[in-house]
Amino acid sequence: TQYGLGCFEGLKAFPQKGGGLKIFRPDQNARRFARSMEGLKMPVFPEESFLAAVKAVVSRNLAIGFAPAYEAAWEKDDFESGHAIYIRPFTYSEPAIGLGLSHHPWVVMVSTPVGSYFRPGNSKAVTTDKIRAYPGGTGWIKCDANYVTPILVKKQAEAEGYMEAIFLDAREGRYVEEGSSCNIFFVLKNGTLATPELGDTILPGITRDSVLTIAKDLGIATEVRRITIDEAMSESTEAFVTGTAAGATSIESITHKESTAVFSSGKVGETTRQIQRTLKGIQYGAGEDRHGWMVAV
Ligand code: PMP
Repeated sequence: TQYGLGCFEGLKAFPQKGGGLKIFRPDQNARRFARSMEGLKMPVFPEESFLAAVKAVVSRNLAIGFAPAYEAAWEKDDFESGHAIYIRPFTYSEPAIGLGLSHHPWVVMVSTPVGSYFRPGNSKAVTTDKIRAYPGGTGWIKCDANYVTPILVKKQAEAEGYMEAIFLDAREGRYVEEGSSCNIFFVLKNGTLATPELGDTILPGITRDSVLTIAKDLGIATEVRRITIDEAMSESTEAFVTGTAAGATSIESITHKESTAVFSSGKVGETTRQIQRTLKGIQYGAGEDRHGWMVAV
């Protein structure tokens, strides 16, 4: 296990307004976990087994009272203060001395109740010239090795007063890729919602995919394409990051080299708020789940 050949997932179960708990799009995590294992040339954990195990973990914890109950008070801030259960499935490779693949990995799942991920009050982001993923590498799967640099960079950014670090492409250092553990969106001056296109250096976030669908449902134009850091800073009116942990979290400013772009005068923009509200509404059972994303346990 010294060689970083492991992968993992992260997903959440939400207490429902109507009672009970539902898991957000676990089928997508099952698929991504399988892709990650495939990418590491491990035998793949079947998607049906992943789904069954996630449901079992959540329902067994629920049975012993290890789960938050729905609170109507969360509705006041559009569930920003809402609690949930975070589930972390991961592989654990068998010991070996020599360089080699993992042929018999264990799959372990742990879960814990969680509140909000980013501390409220600071939503400043800063670019880094460190590299998260490079063409031909493993940025497209959720493997352990991808997180070493982002964790170090994020801690440094936090020490300097920022909430999150933004990684740029490895070749030119010009194109926005993603945060340390979240995808990124920009609302452009013409109202279009734009996010970097996936390649082999960006993790295909399930929240990212959901936000693109929600935007279409809300009649917001979307663009999935390469976005330079200069365009992001000069042409955006809002910016936010997305992820299981973050939901959709507004970014008040981006600092790149010597300059800082402030979005929506540092407040949460209207489009960001609309997306946040819709996403959390679906997750907590307060809004219509029109795509059948929520899975009962
Ligand atoms: N990018 C990276 C590098 C991540 O670790 C995560 C969290 N899984 C995301 C993006 C967001 O993905 P998701 O919306 O599926 O949580």
